[in-house]
Amino acid sequence: MLLLLWLGAFKLDVYAAPRLINPKGDGFVIVIDPGHGGDNNGTEGHLNGSYLEKQMTMITSQALYDELSKYEGVTVYMTRNNDASLSLKERAEFAASVNADMMFSVHYNASVNHDLFGAEVWVPSDTPYHAHGYQFAMVELQSFKDKGLFIRGAKTKLNDAGENYYGIIREATALGVPAVIIEHCHVDNAVDIGYCDTDEDLRAFGVLDATSIAKYLGLKSSALGVDYSAYAAKDLASAEPDGRISLVFNTYTDPDVCEISPEEVNNETGDVVINVTAADYDDLLMYFDYSTDGGETFSERLPMPGYDYFNKSVQDSFEYTINLQGNNEPVVMFRVYNIFDRMKESNVLELAGAFSFAGNGTGENAGKTREEIIAEAKESKNKRQIIEKEIPGTLTFAPNGELIDEDTGFSLKDFLIIVLILVTLVFVTAFFVQLFSYKKRRKKRRGIKSYDYDIYSKDNYHY
Ligand SMILES: [Zn+2]
Repeated sequence: MLLLLWLGAFKLDVYAAPRLINPKGDGFVIVIDPGHGGDNNGTEGHLNGSYLEKQMTMITSQALYDELSKYEGVTVYMTRNNDASLSLKERAEFAASVNADMMFSVHYNASVNHDLFGAEVWVPSDTPYHAHGYQFAMVELQSFKDKGLFIRGAKTKLNDAGENYYGIIREATALGVPAVIIEHCHVDNAVDIGYCDTDEDLRAFGVLDATSIAKYLGLKSSALGVDYSAYAAKDLASAEPDGRISLVFNTYTDPDVCEISPEEVNNETGDVVINVTAADYDDLLMYFDYSTDGGETFSERLPMPGYDYFNKSVQDSFEYTINLQGNNEPVVMFRVYNIFDRMKESNVLELAGAFSFAGNGTGENAGKTREEIIAEAKESKNKRQIIEKEIPGTLTFAPNGELIDEDTGFSLKDFLIIVLILVTLVFVTAFFVQLFSYKKRRKKRRGIKSYDYDIYSKDNYHY
């Protein structure tokens, strides 16, 4: 019996990874902070204009409060229940006043260029709160991923003084309360809008948050019929010696490599396959975008191929097809972004002249197909020069000035064959010239008018 108990304890130790947070008193005290409020609207950029951020955070927070309150062993508070203006310091002071074990600040995101999408959790940079935040964030982000959201990660951000950049985390840390910011999704981006467009969506996020917190804290609820006491929290085997997790570090450096080269050009369709090689030696690459007009405008942002936040992996070399039909002077460049939104620009590919598309001749050839341009070029040398000047690279010439139709191709092999034929011709000519002069000399010397000989055998010469 004793052995069984011991085995049971041992098993629990091995299979349920250690939780880094323990309640300060009897049971956990959790504070929910609905972001913004009062004259602080938060983001007003909701794509459909349905909400201000302060309204969204309240709907989500109330659902979070209701759901988390169904669990045993936890007392739940909210920093505000109405449209009150509260400073970040006041929110942190409230959390400290109720002896909170942890504070969860509820937010929705938007970006300056409305091009970002996905969910992220900001965590404290200080030990041990850093690990508390990270361990919760991994549970929360996994739930977000299961819901279909793009994962922007668990992250820290520091100000110039080396303190936590975000006020709520900084103020709460100063008062001994670990706090995290949950940025559920981007309200100003089409990729995310489906997750935050109705009250029901916003309440669903609150239930998801409560479930993640319950799993993280190992709570159980007889009302809900769930027991997360054996839930395996994310183990921190990869933690640095000081208890921090390297993936959460913000190195404040740009990605290291972003290089592009043309892989394949289809003159008929205008499809150009670009080979992209990118790397970031410190952080995970997350998005990329590209320009076909030399950087004046860019595509929407796209997830890096193979991006997997949880396995910390990404495909660092990939092919991407862009259609450039109708673009007479394409200038292509790519940009890659890491999870801290640091960016690296690629080299620039000036593709005008590297190929031509059907119907995109310029100048006097405007509207003509490639075939028509080449057919005309074959007619006159003068015309060739004009076309070559207008659309450099459209026409290709052999070393002898002969126009080469790119459709038939002119390869190194063709070139070598021509060289071989020329060399053979030179040798044969030289042989006959030698032979003829020899014959002439013999004729002169001997005075013989005609003779018969076989060039293949000296023995058969007859005089
Ligand atoms: Zn906010």
